[in-house]
Amino acid sequence: MYERRKTRQISVGSVPVGGDAPVSIQSMTTTKTDNVDATLIQVHALATQGADIVRVAVPHEGDAKALPMIVREGGVPIIADIHFSVRLALMAIEAGVHGLRLNPGNMRNPKHIKEVADAARERGIPIRIGVNAGSLDKKLVAKYGRPTAEALVESALYEIGLLEQHGFRDIKVSVKHQNVPEMINAYRLLAAETDVPFHLGVTEAGTPKQGVTKSAIGIGTLLAEGIGDTIRVSLTADPVEEVKVGKQILHALGIRQDSFDLVACPSCGRAELDVFELANEVEERIEKMDLPPMQIAVMGCEVNGPGEARDADIGIAAGPGRGLLFAKGKQIGWVPHDKLVDALLEAAEQVAGEIRAAGDADPDGAVTVLKGAGRRNALLSLGLRPTDD
Ligand code: SF4
Repeated sequence: MYERRKTRQISVGSVPVGGDAPVSIQSMTTTKTDNVDATLIQVHALATQGADIVRVAVPHEGDAKALPMIVREGGVPIIADIHFSVRLALMAIEAGVHGLRLNPGNMRNPKHIKEVADAARERGIPIRIGVNAGSLDKKLVAKYGRPTAEALVESALYEIGLLEQHGFRDIKVSVKHQNVPEMINAYRLLAAETDVPFHLGVTEAGTPKQGVTKSAIGIGTLLAEGIGDTIRVSLTADPVEEVKVGKQILHALGIRQDSFDLVACPSCGRAELDVFELANEVEERIEKMDLPPMQIAVMGCEVNGPGEARDADIGIAAGPGRGLLFAKGKQIGWVPHDKLVDALLEAAEQVAGEIRAAGDADPDGAVTVLKGAGRRNALLSLGLRPTDD
């Protein structure tokens, strides 16, 4: 649906970023990196949730010394986040990290930039230039009066130039701002100036209450314009939440379909049951199931309910005392309210089975589920009476 901005492709370990590579999701650990056990637990939790790449902070030598083990056991590409120190950057490269995040402009000695660029090139390690409104060069803040989008872009282009003058091109870049319009503007301006792939993010977006909305608007707007190659949602929360939100952003835009999509009505005075309770229970239980991507609809009455439920892979439309269950556009049967969730999930499992059997990542058209004996058996197993199709 979206024409991607043409960017050069780099590789963060096994994950390609830029070009025609899928938009990847990143997060960052909140542990002290030198606490290897705690860091690895968090890295694994992030990878399990769907993070493609995980970044760890490396402010001290002890953190750099922990990197070999984290890289070896992490199971996902690891990026070392380093500021100022050429020594730590070289230690991280030596440790085998899959990427560096640093700002070469923070390294005062031009010889150090060349040293890091040469070592990274030798190991095939990309570098992200992470320009951030909160740590923008004071000269640029003075020039522009505040960290404007233009100031971020000037900084990014300068930093890119510092690496490229040493022939180092495995670069990605971010121009993060806590102000969403400014962030969007910065990436748009920079997109016109370079083919370096972009790491998108709204910095310091805050707690999930506000941060989810800010991130969805900032990152989502740019992705919808084809701008962005990898994303990080920054939340003041367990980083696992960042990955969940990142996946939801990509899912909502139709960029990545690797989870379920719950369509649920907001409820109103016509609702025949407690839609909030029903939708939340369905969501909670489905999150624990290993389902291929599918759309599931939970609708509170017979006004819009049957239409939405019919359009989804699996859906229910509540009526008085019972609800109508649909699978792939077919009516399966009427189910009492107290059995709706079980019936829905049972049907979801069966659709999932057919999707897997079809071996097709795209469920549309691949599934002709719950017909004939299979449908009858499904209903009978729930103690329900089949209706006519
Ligand atoms: S589907 Fe029915 S209950 Fe839900 S919001 Fe629409 S009219 Fe109200």
